[in-house]
Amino acid sequence: MDREQALAKTALALMGDCNVMPTPENFELFYIYASGENAVLSQIVSGMIGQRLPFGPQVLSELRARALSRERAAKAMEDVGTGISDMLDIVLDKLEDAGKHAGDYGRALSEASGELNDDHSPAALRKLVDGLLGATRAMEERTSNLENELQRSSEQVNELKVQLDDVRKESRIDQLTGIANRKAFDAELQAAIEDAAQTGAALTLLMCDIDHFKSFNDTWGHPTGDQVLRLVANCLSENVKGRDTAARYGGEEFVVILRQTALTDAIKLANQIRSHVEGKKLVKKSTGDILGSITISIGVAQLSQNDQVESLVQRADTCLYRAKHTGRNRVVGECELAVQAEIDAA
Ligand code: GH3
Ligand code: MG
Ligand code: MG
Repeated sequence: MDREQALAKTALALMGDCNVMPTPENFELFYIYASGENAVLSQIVSGMIGQRLPFGPQVLSELRARALSRERAAKAMEDVGTGISDMLDIVLDKLEDAGKHAGDYGRALSEASGELNDDHSPAALRKLVDGLLGATRAMEERTSNLENELQRSSEQVNELKVQLDDVRKESRIDQLTGIANRKAFDAELQAAIEDAAQTGAALTLLMCDIDHFKSFNDTWGHPTGDQVLRLVANCLSENVKGRDTAARYGGEEFVVILRQTALTDAIKLANQIRSHVEGKKLVKKSTGDILGSITISIGVAQLSQNDQVESLVQRADTCLYRAKHTGRNRVVGECELAVQAEIDAA
């Protein structure tokens, strides 16, 4: 039996064991799980099977969105790339062709000027003019064909560009929460630091981490944990302005870039976000179970003169670490670090 058949059999058996509806979409998911080629999917599904958690329709659709989106984005990128390179090949062929015809035309013209030098009789002139007219018409026709073809190609290239933009945009969004991902954050922070250096405006960074999230996942399951990640992402987005960027830094950590905002205001905003998250009462939709609430800890650092992306992130992280170690569900700004350093030194 070849590998595909064996995988299909394992996938079907697993679906049976887990009471999963035998739809093509679910089969695709379990087939990929059986292949072990998608680390995220393997981790989540194994965890769920281990804990005997049910694969309800909502869970399955989330699993699909989560595990398959990266593969699809990569495939889409590849399709667009192939489309563009095919199109360029066609355009190059056309241009090469046009060059050849232009060469023929040039030769016709130079032959004509050669003929003109030898024989000036009316018959020779007529022949010459007829020949030139023919060559010119042929050239005109080819030029207009070429124009049409280039026009068509350029429309297709534009279409591909739009598709590429879509794929690019998608590659900057975190699939689970819908906010900016780490890649987008890195680029945005770099840009924000350059802007701040130029304009002299203040810039602050919040580094947020969900408290005791591991035990939340252990108690309520990974899919419910994912809902919490979405909720935190929403709280961040709701509390920042258009010029700011809230992003998922990785796992259960989030970052917020606050442009034109100094430390004191950033700390106030961080506290607002912190209490907004704390105030959300969590209820498991499928069962109505009351899950209580979750809290987050936040570190806040302000850009200083010689800061780069890494040093600013590092300071916000140190503040976050302090918030964790001084009780969690807290905001620590870097002004507190300075005070602590003085106490330590005394
Ligand atoms: P602390 O208060 O010190 O931050 O404790 P913690 O349990 O939140 O921290 P720890 O780093 O020990 O655990 C982080 C947990 O976050 C472990 C992992 O299961 C969970 N996590 C990371 N990414 C995801 C995700 O995408 N979905 C879900 N549901 N959980 C995730
Ligand atoms: Mg963490
Ligand atoms: Mg945590």
